[in-house]
Amino acid sequence: MGTVTEGSKGLVLVVEDERPIADLVRMYLVREGFGVHVADDGDAGLAAARRLRPVACVLDIALPGLSGTEICQRLRQSGDWTPVLFLTARDDEVDRVVGLELGADDYITKPFSPRELVARVRAVLRRVTRPDEAARPLRVGSVRIDPSRRIVLVEGSVVALTSTEFDLLARLAQRPGRVFTREELLASVWGYAAQSGTRTVDVHIAQVRAKLGAAASVIRTVRGVGYTADA
Ligand code: CA
Repeated sequence: MGTVTEGSKGLVLVVEDERPIADLVRMYLVREGFGVHVADDGDAGLAAARRLRPVACVLDIALPGLSGTEICQRLRQSGDWTPVLFLTARDDEVDRVVGLELGADDYITKPFSPRELVARVRAVLRRVTRPDEAARPLRVGSVRIDPSRRIVLVEGSVVALTSTEFDLLARLAQRPGRVFTREELLASVWGYAAQSGTRTVDVHIAQVRAKLGAAASVIRTVRGVGYTADA
């Protein structure tokens, strides 16, 4: 079991079995004003997520006991949509993390800069907590988006999107017909500039389309440019 460090910006749960990495992440998050609880195995991590109700979870994938992806799945299955940021060991884990229906909000590949990790945690929290500037309901094709309640409906059925997926879809739907580049979407949805490519946008778009099912075609790929929502 780990220990809790207090902080004014809310508690971040870090589940990481490599002690040096956990210590570094804790140090940087604490410096930023977050409280931190570190758990070093998957079962303790899931228990801590349920007991401590953190504002965000940073989950390593390969852990003793439950894996990071299993922790995330169990949280989502129980209706817990706390933002989750995965630490992935290899690039080839990325598709698995974002592509499966895990409800991940972001990921960062090891080795990572702790500053970058902190920036991502802040960005994820900003997205979740910021007031919706445009609270009017949006509509593209058969997809209806209610920003005030943060729900998406297709033909009357609620589509369960992560906060990142919701923001991505809402961003496109706010300006139907306008083409957004991947860099623009990264900046406005994720809150950071593209550093090592924009594949995260593509995998999240694929995920939103998969969840929209028959309505997936409202998001159109504009080859060589980016994405647009059909008016
Ligand atoms: Ca590990």
